[in-house]
Amino acid sequence: MTRKIAILGATGSIGKSTLDLVERNRDRFAVTSVTAATNVEALADIVRRTGARLAVVADESRYTDLAELLVGTNCRAAAGEGALVEASVGEAELVIAAIVGCAGLRPVMAAVDAGRTVALANKEALVTAGALMTDAARASGATLLPVDSEHNAIFQCLAGSRVKDVSRLVLTASGGPFRSASADAIGAATPAQAVAHPNWSMGAKISVDSATMMNKGLELIEAHYLFGLPSDRIDILVHPQSVVHSMVEFVDGSVLAQLGSADMRIPIAYALAWPERMATPARRLDLAAIARLDFEAPDLDRFPALRLAREALEAGGAAPIVLNAANEVAVASFLAARISFLEIARVVHEALISADYDAPRSISDVLEIDRVTRKRAEAMMKASCP
Ligand code: NDP
Repeated sequence: MTRKIAILGATGSIGKSTLDLVERNRDRFAVTSVTAATNVEALADIVRRTGARLAVVADESRYTDLAELLVGTNCRAAAGEGALVEASVGEAELVIAAIVGCAGLRPVMAAVDAGRTVALANKEALVTAGALMTDAARASGATLLPVDSEHNAIFQCLAGSRVKDVSRLVLTASGGPFRSASADAIGAATPAQAVAHPNWSMGAKISVDSATMMNKGLELIEAHYLFGLPSDRIDILVHPQSVVHSMVEFVDGSVLAQLGSADMRIPIAYALAWPERMATPARRLDLAAIARLDFEAPDLDRFPALRLAREALEAGGAAPIVLNAANEVAVASFLAARISFLEIARVVHEALISADYDAPRSISDVLEIDRVTRKRAEAMMKASCP
């Protein structure tokens, strides 16, 4: 039987890896809807390849272009946030949530509220709406399948275990392109250097997050909400080879780890085929050739973003939303060469200490805190870089 899937963020790095797997398994999957932010050319190409019936571009000014590109297909064009939600809760049983940033929150929540199975790559949605999303999933019966390789690894290690038998989670981190760089070299880092990840090929935003290690901080918060463990039972371990994708330590002292090559098609395939498995063309591990696996503690002085994220998780309330929003605008400014690499963490820190919001009680509250924080962070950056 074919499984109907919606791919939110189909034109991005996770979207492309998902499409690669879907196209290798045409008998198993039917793509019903696909979305992008602005890239209507790539979106129309995906429609022609998959036969999707609904294509949504978030940027409403690109609607006419998309509609023209879809002439001659059976696919309807639509635009804007309401249409993203429609793509998410249409006929698909499985929603691949691969939009980058808090922009994906409404469509992801709509899928969760509708009780769908959500393959979640869009970590910012869970970081900003953690408890609201997991409560909504419990209420609707939705299943959240982690696509992030670390959380997918933990999900695999936990299969068949009781949460009360877990003593701690260990999230591994590659350390990013500046793992062994001096503080001075990190201070002078350019966008091109920051996006050149040593092990993974990913979109620009997550690549910069990996360089600051904010990515691991967001993953720490994501792990807390997905698996229900407190901050002091989720450790971060730098592992430069990215072979061990994460580990679970149980109360008896056993540690289970998931290993594999650094290819996102492995965790995506796990989510696509769950609760079964499916073949992928990912390179097989050759541990004899790899020969050694290294591990080290993260350096919170050179990578303060990781400390900020843990503090935000422990503060709770609106802090993770503020952390994420300030980080999103700071990373965009860094990529546009408007601020330096070190300023990313500074902007996030300033945003956190000046924040005074109540804990969100709804997704509208989350989006309002996100909006105000972005505005404040933009003003902060303007004031420091005339
Ligand atoms: P990309 O930047 O490669 O792709 C992002 C996708 O989201 C594109 O389809 C883009 O459309 C769309 N998009 C961007 N902004 C908006 C918006 N405002 N509204 C609607 N759609 C939008 O990102 P990645 O694929 O690398 O990452 C996607 C998510 O997955 C992120 O949350 C990331 O943290 C997570 N993730 C990614 C991994 C990876 O290996 N890439 C690994 C683990 C997690 P357009 O093409 O038109 O810009």
